[in-house]
Amino acid sequence: SNAIRLTLAALLATAVLVGVVVVLVRQMEREQRHAAALRRSEERLHFAQFALDHAADMVFWADRDAQILYANAAASDRLGYRPDEIATLSIAQIDPEFTPAMWTDLLSELSQSRSKRFETTHRTRDGATYPAEVSVNYVEFNGAGYVCGFVRDITERRRAEAALAEKTASLEASNAELEQFAYVASHDLREPLRMVNSFVTLLARRFADKLDDEGREYIGFAQEGAVRMDRLILDLLEYSRVGRLDRPFAPLPLARAAEVAVKALGVAADEAGATIEIAPDLPEVLGNEEELVRLYQNLVGNALKYRHLDRPAKVSLGAEWRGGELMCWVADNGIGIAPQYYERVFRIFQRLHGRDRYDGTGIGLAICKKIVERHGGRIWVESVPDQGSTFFFTLKGA
Ligand code: ADP
Repeated sequence: SNAIRLTLAALLATAVLVGVVVVLVRQMEREQRHAAALRRSEERLHFAQFALDHAADMVFWADRDAQILYANAAASDRLGYRPDEIATLSIAQIDPEFTPAMWTDLLSELSQSRSKRFETTHRTRDGATYPAEVSVNYVEFNGAGYVCGFVRDITERRRAEAALAEKTASLEASNAELEQFAYVASHDLREPLRMVNSFVTLLARRFADKLDDEGREYIGFAQEGAVRMDRLILDLLEYSRVGRLDRPFAPLPLARAAEVAVKALGVAADEAGATIEIAPDLPEVLGNEEELVRLYQNLVGNALKYRHLDRPAKVSLGAEWRGGELMCWVADNGIGIAPQYYERVFRIFQRLHGRDRYDGTGIGLAICKKIVERHGGRIWVESVPDQGSTFFFTLKGA
């Protein structure tokens, strides 16, 4: 029985030993896990700190009293303080626009929305200021509230914006000057041209019997040239007049502009045996009546001029609303335009036919484009050659 007792004691001791070993191993494992977790969290902290230290934007933490608790390296660098110094300042010392009332408002706004973006001014240690774009967040932590702010120096952006605004203004000025020039030049060019024309006409009348056929032919060419030049100048004058200040916008019935234009083309329409239909439901638009009449006159005039000789001309004017803007059209059953010319026809002096077939200067559609664009719209053409063209343009409602 002694032997049994001994054996039992030995067994017990072994069990205790195994138990102790198991507990120790578990403990070690726990400690290893703990150490690994600690390492990971240290790593994360290190990454976060590194990112803060090297961020291009400034990062601040402040408490509810606007006392700065932390500022990253970008912040202390830009503001010209030592890192330990900046953590003793109040927001009031870096933002000259700061007032206690503003801060209270900001806090109450942040308690609703949690974050906010705004622009302000920051002042560096030596008194220089720069425009700052600020984005702030409100966080509660251990029962206290904190404001975390990200700040960006937007001096460069402001400079670029100012430069752009200056460029735009000078472009507008030079554009206005050019228009003025085109207007004055075309206006003044007509005078000497009238003189050339009247003296050539006088020459033809007075000396017709003294000239031979060749001489008379030359004078004819000179007269033709003068007439054509006068038409070009008149069209240029008209082109430069579009958008002048003495042509203000007002609400007007589009139907009236269409009717005035169609009436003015009455003779041409009769000669062409054309039917012109104006949709009964054309709405009110915002625009300049004189220019919209001109627009319809040019488009309908072209529809008559470029009619197909195999059939009577049919022109229809209509409009419909498309997503807040009015899409208008002038459709014809004329000779049509090949797709490769859809853009070109709107350029000044660009024509698809010789003067021997169709008379014209090539300014009509350029004027249409200028009128439509000044009204804030677009103009384009769709066509099936030999079947007809539809000119579309958009306008704004009254
Ligand atoms: P112009 O009629 O004086 O030549 P436009 O600027 O009015 O000048 O037109 C430019 C060109 O576009 C015309 O020469 C013509 O070839 C083409 N065009 C314009 N309207 C039509 C139309 N309704 N049908 C076919 N071609 C057209």
